[in-house]
Amino acid sequence: MAANFNDLGQLMKLAQNIDMKQLANLSEKVNLEELIGMVSSMDERTLAQMTNFMRKQKRAKNGDGRELPPVTGDFFDLRSTFSDEQRAVQDTVRDFMETHVQPIANEYWQKDTFPRHLIDEMRKLHILPKIFHADGTRTHDAAVMEGIVTMEMARIDVSTATFFGVHGGLALWSMVMAGTEEQKQEWLPKMLNLDVIGAFGLTEPKVGSAISQGMRTTCRREGDTWVLNGEKKWIGNATFADMIIIWARDEDTDEVRGFLVRPENPGYHVDKIENKIALRMVENGHVTLTDCAVPESDHLSAMNGWSTVAEILRQTRAGVAWQGVGCAMGAYEHSARYARKRKQFGRPIGAFQLIQDKLVFMLGNVTAMQTMCLRLAEMQDAGTMRDEHASLAKVFTAARCRDTVALARDLHGGNGILLEHDVARFFCDTEAIYSYEGTNEINSLVVGRAITGQSAFV
Ligand code: FAD
Repeated sequence: MAANFNDLGQLMKLAQNIDMKQLANLSEKVNLEELIGMVSSMDERTLAQMTNFMRKQKRAKNGDGRELPPVTGDFFDLRSTFSDEQRAVQDTVRDFMETHVQPIANEYWQKDTFPRHLIDEMRKLHILPKIFHADGTRTHDAAVMEGIVTMEMARIDVSTATFFGVHGGLALWSMVMAGTEEQKQEWLPKMLNLDVIGAFGLTEPKVGSAISQGMRTTCRREGDTWVLNGEKKWIGNATFADMIIIWARDEDTDEVRGFLVRPENPGYHVDKIENKIALRMVENGHVTLTDCAVPESDHLSAMNGWSTVAEILRQTRAGVAWQGVGCAMGAYEHSARYARKRKQFGRPIGAFQLIQDKLVFMLGNVTAMQTMCLRLAEMQDAGTMRDEHASLAKVFTAARCRDTVALARDLHGGNGILLEHDVARFFCDTEAIYSYEGTNEINSLVVGRAITGQSAFV
């Protein structure tokens, strides 16, 4: 059947849908009368062939022919809720990560080494003073600010976020919570300015999750010196840190005490842990303390036994939840870009329903994680966050991050296992997020106890 517009009603209806501006543009390029005459004389088969050909031409040129939406892992516009200062910090960190870290992340991950020169670059950003004041008190929006910084770092590279979290979270919080006024005055300004780098030594080779009950590293006082014996495993930054916070059990009182150990202290030794498959850019140390002598002046004596350590972990656990957010965000954004670029069967893979389903699932995860962590940070800043809140966020984000990076790896096909496509690094690094700062099981038990009133740890 030839195209026929004799029916006036049908013609009027069609005319309503015509974009007159486009038609005017077209009339400058072709003779419209001639074109209409030609098309209307075509039989149905030729017409179908021609429209099919034109559709294919459009797709080949630019996906489905429409302007592509921007790739953003901030679908619910969290940024619009940030203050001007928070936005400025977000921009600064994003720029730093994209300029200085993205180009070298895979190289150093492969080398199994932390790029020390990044510390000088990071110092110029003055991030930590936006979170802690020089006396150790926190700024009014410290947790939200810390969350934004961590998310932006992990969005490009989780190792960098971990370096920052160990120094600016675990070690700094230890000084704030356990240090005396003199110790804080001496160390906090240097720590805030990254002039000295800290590490945090709690986990031991034989005791991880049960460290609150089974710490084997000991300390005993001999005059003005403390003598430490034991081992600490997995200690991030320990291979190059200027100060390592070591937690040990008092041989006399059984109380947990904190010490600032310097690498030059006699009896202190650190070996780098090799052959990790996650966070390879972070240098984790295996620390051995053999009659390690620490002066009383480096004893962090303003603490209250294990409850101080638990409080430090409660605060920093929230930061690890933000690492999961950033990591999933980065994996999603890489995937959304790849889905537009990669073509199979003559079309971008993003045009396939099953690929879109994966992207939707990933973006749903990212958005749920972001909104949960933002609310958690607000509670942290308001002083209403409890253990179970931080633990729920850690459990939820680590698990959703694992799902998200697995989909990202899958969506990249074979390229998903190549380091140069970045998602392989996110995929591996997530395994560390899943296990540190309390494994998923331990954090689940914390939440389970809050729900039921029953402790199921042992
Ligand atoms: P284990 O405690 O031996 O656990 C093994 C398994 O048993 C886990 O699945 C665990 O969930 C499960 N499990 C244990 N108890 C229970 C229970 N009651 N019920 C159910 N399941 C249970 N530590 C530091 O002190 N400083 C650091 O800087 C540091 N950085 C780290 C960096 C990386 C990359 C990694 C991997 C770890 C780091 N850690 C650090 C240590 C980390 O906190 C521990 O790995 C973690 O607490 C788990 O301890 P574990 O590895 O000994 O596992």
